[in-house]
Amino acid sequence: MPAKVDEGCCVACGMCAEECPVGAITIESVAVVNEDECIECGHCVEVCPNDCITL
Ligand code: SF4
Ligand code: SF4
Repeated sequence: MPAKVDEGCCVACGMCAEECPVGAITIESVAVVNEDECIECGHCVEVCPNDCITL
């Protein structure tokens, strides 16, 4: 499954987008994952300071 962001948790800090190796995350009002680009590496899950992302 592609990475999934808990929109009620995300504070749009951008750390996940900076760490994504394929640029699959954009920051709008919250982080948004392009599911077609996500390679399910888990880096965003590891770096999110609020644990807002799951795979
Ligand atoms: S799991 Fe990896 S490829 Fe997918 S959005 Fe997170 S950092 Fe990017
Ligand atoms: S690292 Fe977490 S809190 Fe920060 S933008 Fe990504 S999902 Fe949101």
